[in-house]
Amino acid sequence: MSEVSKEYNFSYVEEKWVNSWDSSIYHFDWESKKPQYIIDTPPPYPTGNFHIGNALNWCYIDYVARYKRMQGYNVMFPQGWDCHGLPTEVKVEELNHITKNQVPREEFRRLCEKLTDEAIVRFHKSMGRLGLSIDWSNEYVTMKPEYYGKTQTSFVRMYENGQIYRDDHPVNWCPRCGTAIAFAEVEYDTRTTTLNYMRFVSEEGEMQIATSRPELLPACVAVAVNPNDERYSKFIGKTVRVPIFNYEVPVLSDPVVDTSFGTGIVMICTFGDRQDVRWWMEHHLPLRQAIDREGKLNAIAGPYQGLSVTDAKNKITEDMKKESIIFKQEPLEQNVGLCWRCKTPIEILSERQWFVKINAEEIKKAADEINWVPPHMQVRLKNWADSVEWDWCISRQRIFATPIPVWYCRACGEVMVAKEEWLPLDPNQKQPLVKCKCGSSDFIPEKDVLDTWMDSSISALAVAGWPNRKDLRMPTQLRPQGHDIIRTWAFYTILRTQSLEGMRPWDTILINGMALGEDGHKMSKSLNNFIRPEEVFEVNGADALRQWGAMGGSPGNDIMFQWKEITAASRFQQKLWSIFRFALPLIVDVDASPCQVDRWLLGELDQLIEKTTQAMDAFQFDETMKAIRGFAWETLADNYIELVKARLYGPDSPEKRAAQSTLFKALETIARLMAPFTPFISEEIFHTLTGKSVHVQSWPKTSGIAVDPAGLAIKEIAASLRRYKAELGMALNSPLPGIVVYSDLGLETFDLSGVANSNVESRTTGPEIEMKPVAVKPQMKILGPRFKDKSGKIIKALGGMNPADVASQKAKGSIAVLVDGETIEVPPEAAEIVMETLSAGLAVDVLRLEKATVLVRR
Ligand SMILES: [Zn+2]
Ligand SMILES: [Zn+2]
Repeated sequence: MSEVSKEYNFSYVEEKWVNSWDSSIYHFDWESKKPQYIIDTPPPYPTGNFHIGNALNWCYIDYVARYKRMQGYNVMFPQGWDCHGLPTEVKVEELNHITKNQVPREEFRRLCEKLTDEAIVRFHKSMGRLGLSIDWSNEYVTMKPEYYGKTQTSFVRMYENGQIYRDDHPVNWCPRCGTAIAFAEVEYDTRTTTLNYMRFVSEEGEMQIATSRPELLPACVAVAVNPNDERYSKFIGKTVRVPIFNYEVPVLSDPVVDTSFGTGIVMICTFGDRQDVRWWMEHHLPLRQAIDREGKLNAIAGPYQGLSVTDAKNKITEDMKKESIIFKQEPLEQNVGLCWRCKTPIEILSERQWFVKINAEEIKKAADEINWVPPHMQVRLKNWADSVEWDWCISRQRIFATPIPVWYCRACGEVMVAKEEWLPLDPNQKQPLVKCKCGSSDFIPEKDVLDTWMDSSISALAVAGWPNRKDLRMPTQLRPQGHDIIRTWAFYTILRTQSLEGMRPWDTILINGMALGEDGHKMSKSLNNFIRPEEVFEVNGADALRQWGAMGGSPGNDIMFQWKEITAASRFQQKLWSIFRFALPLIVDVDASPCQVDRWLLGELDQLIEKTTQAMDAFQFDETMKAIRGFAWETLADNYIELVKARLYGPDSPEKRAAQSTLFKALETIARLMAPFTPFISEEIFHTLTGKSVHVQSWPKTSGIAVDPAGLAIKEIAASLRRYKAELGMALNSPLPGIVVYSDLGLETFDLSGVANSNVESRTTGPEIEMKPVAVKPQMKILGPRFKDKSGKIIKALGGMNPADVASQKAKGSIAVLVDGETIEVPPEAAEIVMETLSAGLAVDVLRLEKATVLVRR
C-alpha cells in the first residue's frame, strides 16, 4: 500500500482525477436495456463566467445524475448552451462601442458567436473542475444550425397545425432595445409620476379627466365612466372633444372604471397600459398609435412629432397648463413596466408580429401530471397561466437569434413558410425552392427573428431525440431549474411539448433555490458579495463546495454562501481521510464471520443505506449528507474503531479478520454513498481500496443484518467505562482491577477488555450484590442548631458507633447516642450511612445499563 499523507491534499487529489477520468462512462447509451433517466438540464446563457449560483444548481443535477447511474439507470445528463438573446447582443454592443444597426447583420452575428464560443470554453473548464458528470456526447449549442434547425422545425409544425399565427396585435415593446418582448420579460417597479387633471369639452358640459400620460392625448380613442356613477350618466353615449388635437371620441360606460381614482373618468388610449388593451378589444375601438418603435411621437401627434416620450410629456403639459386645460397636478405612485434587460419603461404598441397560441387550461392540466418538488412551486405556474392576457409574442426585431423561416411574396403578399426539409436556413440568405401561388419568385425575407425561449422551450424534446429519432424518449424524467424561470422556461416548455407531441415534457420538476451572498442578499458584483467557484476550488477544493451545496438546504430554498460551511465540509473530509489513513494498513476485504460489535456496526450501516436511499429518492440531499457525516464521525470513528482497535492490532485470528473486513466494508460503503456528493475524495478512497473507479459502482444495498443488541450493549458499556474513568480522574488507558459484565445477551469480552485495557469477565446470570454499611457521617447542620455546645461530643460519639447498628436505628426513626453516660436521641437525618457494594465479598462499583450490569472491582 502506498504512503498516505497525514493531511488530505485536496488540490493534488482533485487535479489528478480531473485529468485522468474517462468521461465516456457518463455517456447515455441509446441501445441500453436499462430504464432511462433523461435530465432536461438548463442550458445557461454563456455570457460572463460560471458563478456560484450556477455551481449550486449544477451540483444538484450532478447528485441526481450520479445517484441514478449508481441505481442502475441509463442516465443522460446533457449540456446545452442557450446562446441567442439580448444579453449577448447588448454585451457585443458595449464591448465594440456599436449598436446592432451600425454593422452588417452577418458581422454582428459573427461577433455574438465569437463572444459566446469564448464563454462556452470558460464554462467547460469550471464545470470540469467542479467534477460534474456531464454527458458531453449530448451537448447542444442553440446558435448552431444543427439546433436552430430544430427550433425552425418546431415553428413550421406549429404554424401548420394552427398554433402559430401572424397578426396585428398589441405587444410589449422596449424602445431602447427596439424589439417586441413577451410578458415574461416585463418587470414592474414603482415610480412617482404626476397625475394631471384636464378639461375636456362636450355638449353636455365639461368632463374632467385625470391622467399620468398626457403625451398619449393624440392616442385617445374614447373616454369611459362607470355605469353606476350618477355624476356622469348624462354623458354616456355622447361624444367629447379631445383638447389640443380637436377630435371627437365616444363616452363609454364600463363597470371596471374606478370611480374613486382621479375624477372617476378615464381616457382610453392605444395604448397606455394593459387595461387600455382590454377596453380597446372589448369595445372594438379604433387604433390611434402615437408612439413609434423608437419611442418617439409620430405624425398623429402633430406639433409633437419626433419628440421622445419624456420630451413630449413635458411640452404638452406646459402647453395645456398655458391654456388652462390642465388645472391641477398631484404626485402619483405608479407601477411601471420595464424591459427586463435594460430597465427602460416599455410601451404597448400594436404591431404585426408572430404569436404562439396560449391555452392556459391545457398547460395547467399538463402541469398536474408532473411531480413538483417541492409541491408548492406548482402554484406559481398556475397563477402565471391565469394572468397571461394575450398570446405569446415570439418575433423579435433583433439579430442574434433563430431566423424565422418565412418569406413574403412581393407581388401578392402571400406568406411563404419554409418546408421542413429545407431547414435549417436563414431566409435572408436563401430563397424558397418553390414559386408563390401567384407564380412570382420575388420574395421579401422575414427580417424578424425568434424569441430565445423558442429555442430553449424545446430542450426536453431535443435531448430526447426530437424530431428525427423514431424512438422519441419522451417524456424525460427530470427538469431541474430555478424558481425564477417557472413562468418562462417551465411554462413555455410545457406549452411547446403539449403543442408538438401532446404530452408532458417531464415526470418530475425539481426547483432549486438561489445562492445568496454571505450577507443574505442575492449575489451580485455591485453588492460585493460575489464569490467565484474558482476561489473555493483554490482554498478548499471542489468537494467542499459540493458538500456545502448538499448541506445547504432542501429543494426550493435559497442557500446562503458561508465560508464557515465550506470549512466545516473540509474538516469532515479531513476526518474521513484520517479514518482512511488509520484503516488502510489494517484492513482487508476477506470473508469473515462478524462478531457482536461488527454486527452492531453492519446493522447501523444497513440503516444508513436505507435512510440515505429514501432521502435521495426524495431529493433531500441535506438529509443524506447529514446521515453520512453522523455515521462516519460518531458511529464509525468515535465508537467502532475505538472498540476494535485491539483486534485490529492483535495477532491473526477469526476475530481480527472480522474487524478487518467490517471496517473495509464500512469505508467502501461510505465512499459509494458519498460518490454523488464528493466525487474526488470518494474516488481516491475507493480506488485505493479496490483498484476500481467508484463512479461505475452501484449504490450500496442493505445486507439484511440487523443491529446486534449485544454489540450495541458492548458499545454502551465501553462508553460508560470511559465516563467512569473520567469521573475518577483516571487516564483512559489505565487498567482497572477487574470488570465483570452481566447480561442475558451473552456479551463477548475481547473488545471490552481492549477498550478498557483490563480483564473482563462475562456472565449471563447475576450479579449477586450485597450492600454493607461501612461508615457513619454525622450531619453538623442538623445537630449544631439543636444541641448547641453538646453537638461536638455527639458528633464524635456518632462517628465512633458501629455503622450497621446506626443504620438499623436510623431505619426505625431515631438514633440513641451515648455522651458522657447520658443517652441522647437524635433524629435520623443527623447521620448519613456510607454504604459499600460487595460482590462475592469484594468491594465493587456498579454501572447499570439498560441491557447489562457492570461491576468494576475497586
Ligand atoms: Zn430594453
Ligand atoms: Zn404571390
